[in-house]
Amino acid sequence: MKKNNQNNTLNVLEIRKDFPILERKINGKQLVYFDNAATSQTPQQVIDVISDYYSTYNANIHRGVHQLSQEATDKYEDARQTIQKHFNAKHSHEIIFTSGTTHSINVVAHGFETFLQKKDVLLVSAMEHHSNIVPWQMLCEKTGATMEVIPMNNQGELDMRSYEMLLKLKPKLVFVNHISNALGTINPIDEIINQAHSVGAAVLVDGAQACPHIKSDVQNLDVDFYVTSAHKMCGPTGIGVLYAKEKWLKKLPPYQGGGEMISEVTFEKTSYAGLPHKFEAGTPNVCGGIAFGAAIDYMNAVGFDKIAAYENELLSYATKELLAIEGLKIYGTAKNKTSVISFNIEGVHAYDLGTIIDKLGIAIRTGQHCAQPIMDFYGISGTARASFAFYNTKAEIDQLVTALKKAKAMLC
Ligand SMILES: *Cc1c(COP(=O)(O)O)cnc(C)c1O
Repeated sequence: MKKNNQNNTLNVLEIRKDFPILERKINGKQLVYFDNAATSQTPQQVIDVISDYYSTYNANIHRGVHQLSQEATDKYEDARQTIQKHFNAKHSHEIIFTSGTTHSINVVAHGFETFLQKKDVLLVSAMEHHSNIVPWQMLCEKTGATMEVIPMNNQGELDMRSYEMLLKLKPKLVFVNHISNALGTINPIDEIINQAHSVGAAVLVDGAQACPHIKSDVQNLDVDFYVTSAHKMCGPTGIGVLYAKEKWLKKLPPYQGGGEMISEVTFEKTSYAGLPHKFEAGTPNVCGGIAFGAAIDYMNAVGFDKIAAYENELLSYATKELLAIEGLKIYGTAKNKTSVISFNIEGVHAYDLGTIIDKLGIAIRTGQHCAQPIMDFYGISGTARASFAFYNTKAEIDQLVTALKKAKAMLC
C-alpha cells in the first residue's frame, strides 16, 4: 500500500490492490463484497505475515529454549504490545488473547459468577448480538441474578432516559455494543460508561463492530472491559482480545484450566500464573495473534480518520441510492451510524434477494444477524444487510442497486 500523505482522502484504487480476494469472480462476475460486518477481507500484508510464520518460525511459545520458540514468543508478545498501544491500554498484560469476541465475553460472564448474588441486576441493551446476551443469561440462571433491557426507539437509538431510570436499580454490570452489527448505530458509550460508574456499575463494551471503523481509547473511555475479534478488522478468524482493567483481571477467576495458565501444579493444589497468562490456558493461536498485530498496523497505516470519512461518504451515497428503490425500507436510521445498512423490499423475502444477487456476484448477509431481539422489535423475520468497508467503492454500490432492481422485478 502506498501512503497518500499529500491529502486526507483515501486512495481506494490503490488500497484495493492490497486485497487479492477482490479480484475473484463469482458466477463469472467480479466479486462485490458487502458482508464486511460478518467478516472483513484480508490484505496481502497480513497474508504474508501468516505465510511467513508457517514458513519460517512456527513453534510453541513461552516454553521452548530453542530459537524458533524464542522468535515466535517475541513476535506474539510484540503483537500484544501493538494491540495495547492501539487501544491505549495502560499495561500489555491487560490484553488477553482469546478466540474472539464471543470467547472474551464468556470469560467475563464466567468470572462474574463469583461476584453475583440473587437479586443482583445486570443491564443489557436492546440491540445486542446474541454473543452479548446468551452468556449473561447463562450467568443469571446460575446465580439467580436478573437482566433488565435498555430499550431503543424506532430509529435504533438507545433510550437514554430509560437507561437513567434503570440505573436506579443499582446494576452490577452494564453490557452494550459500541456499534450495532444489525443496525449500524454508534452508541454513546462515553455517556453510558460515565453514568454506570456513577452508580458503581462496571461496563463491558462489545467493540467487535466498532474496531474496523473507530480507534477506541480504553483509558480515555475508562471502560472496564472492551472486547473484539480480529476478523472484523482485516485480521484472521479465531483470534480476538479481551481488554480488562488490571484490577478486574486480578479479581476474576480463570476461565479454563490447563497448561500455560499455572505457576505451580501438584495433585493437592495449583497456583495460577500471573497476568495475562492466567487467562490463556493451552497453546494459543500464535500465528493468529501475530497476524492480528499486523492487521492493526495495516489499518493504522491506512488511517482511521480517512477510513471513517470515506465510509461515511459510502454510507450517505448508498442510503440515498437504496431509498430510491420503490418499496425499500431501511432499519436503523440513527443520527450517529456507521456503514451498515439493513433493509427489506416490500413483498420480497430477504433470503431470496440475497440468493439472486449472489448470482450476480454480490455478497450481502440476510437473516437475523445474530440479533433476533432487534428483528422482534421491528416485527420482521429478518433483513438484507449491506455493510461497507474502506476498500468498497461507489461503483460497487451502483452494481448493488442495479442487482436489487433486477431481483425485485423477478420476485414481485
Ligand atoms: C461479529 C460480532 C460479534 C461476534 O464475534 P465473533 O468473532 O463471532 O466472536 C459480537 N458482537 C458484534 C457486535 C459483532 O459484530
